[in-house]
Amino acid sequence: MTTEELRSCFPQLKRSVYGKPLVYLDNAATSLRPQSVIDRWDEISANGTANLHRAVHHIAAEATEAYENARKVVGEYINSPETEEVIFTSGTTHAINLAAFSIGEAFIKEGDEIILGEGEHHSNIVPWQMMCRRKRASIRVLPVDENGRLQVEKLDALISPRTRLVSVAHISNVLGLVNPVKSIADICCKHRILLFVDGAQGVVHQKVDVQALGCDFYAFSGHKMYSAPGTGVLWGKRELLEEMPPMFGGGEMIETVKWEKSTWAPLPRKFEAGTQNISGTPCLIPAIEIIKEMPKDDDVKAYVYEELQKIDGLRLFGTSHDLSLKAPVFSFYVEHAHHEDLALILDKMGIALRSGQMCAEPLMDRYGVSGMLRASFAPYNTMQEAEYFLSSLCKAISMLK
Ligand code: PMP
Repeated sequence: MTTEELRSCFPQLKRSVYGKPLVYLDNAATSLRPQSVIDRWDEISANGTANLHRAVHHIAAEATEAYENARKVVGEYINSPETEEVIFTSGTTHAINLAAFSIGEAFIKEGDEIILGEGEHHSNIVPWQMMCRRKRASIRVLPVDENGRLQVEKLDALISPRTRLVSVAHISNVLGLVNPVKSIADICCKHRILLFVDGAQGVVHQKVDVQALGCDFYAFSGHKMYSAPGTGVLWGKRELLEEMPPMFGGGEMIETVKWEKSTWAPLPRKFEAGTQNISGTPCLIPAIEIIKEMPKDDDVKAYVYEELQKIDGLRLFGTSHDLSLKAPVFSFYVEHAHHEDLALILDKMGIALRSGQMCAEPLMDRYGVSGMLRASFAPYNTMQEAEYFLSSLCKAISMLK
């Protein structure tokens, strides 16, 4: 598929804002949806709605099949050894909260420690903090260096006999750097500790193979990978998931309910209480189909990476000599120009990007900035858009000087 063919699949790309063609560079926050995803959502909402796994009637069976097919397709896409290891959630945040709670209950005791990366999204910090407070455990932080590289060489020294888990992003939503998950997994394996990977950005830019990565858990959101909002996945190894108690109780997650005691349904239903996302989850199938067809965006990435660093007073966070380890997610800070002012000016030029702390306050503190500006590209973004973004950015900076 060419970039132009790909663009024609995304109706929102035809939009304009303030009379300017939309240049959507906020893909790390949420991607746009292709027509195939919109159609699938509409089709189920219009004609295929029934609750899942429950009734014996025809449409219920159809809806259940669509939902369970999505589990199969997602499982194959991430190379899950078993389909039942794919648990549907409403997104990465839900997945990490669920995992942190259930891992905490199953594996964490008072005085235990866990390790988080310094560049983590709040969603990969706060649920673990909540768990640690409950279990009287503590958090250690694996630092990033000046360029944003996770200092994996320091991991061994951070691990103590009380360390139970490491949780890191596959790709940081701020730095855009690919963390060396396999090396981290090898260290975790050597010390017999769990590895959780926040794949919210990773699954978008990398072909994920959970077995090759060697992690124990992997979480991601549908809405960042061109699928419906309110969809997501927690993948975990069966033997761990079996030991973990559910976080939510309710319909469908049980085997029996008695006044004295209830027992849990087998995987994956144990972790999927209540009515699930009937229209949204099956949209993961067309999303994965279009991802497989997407052209590589390496030229645009390399161009933006080089050109941004030529701008006077601009500091790019998350640099790498090897651009295969850098996703097209560019966060930067411009001297004497507030990130929010820049974002507002660029918005008027039709360019949508993100400003602020990017849900990574500890990382902002690490670099001593109150916020950054982030341009995040998808394969449907063109070289012309990249050029327009760079010239508009220079214009906006000069307006503020
Ligand atoms: N982790 C990372 C690295 C992210 O980029 C995001 C979304 N910005 C999240 C977690 C949270 O994802 P969601 O809001 O879809 O739950």
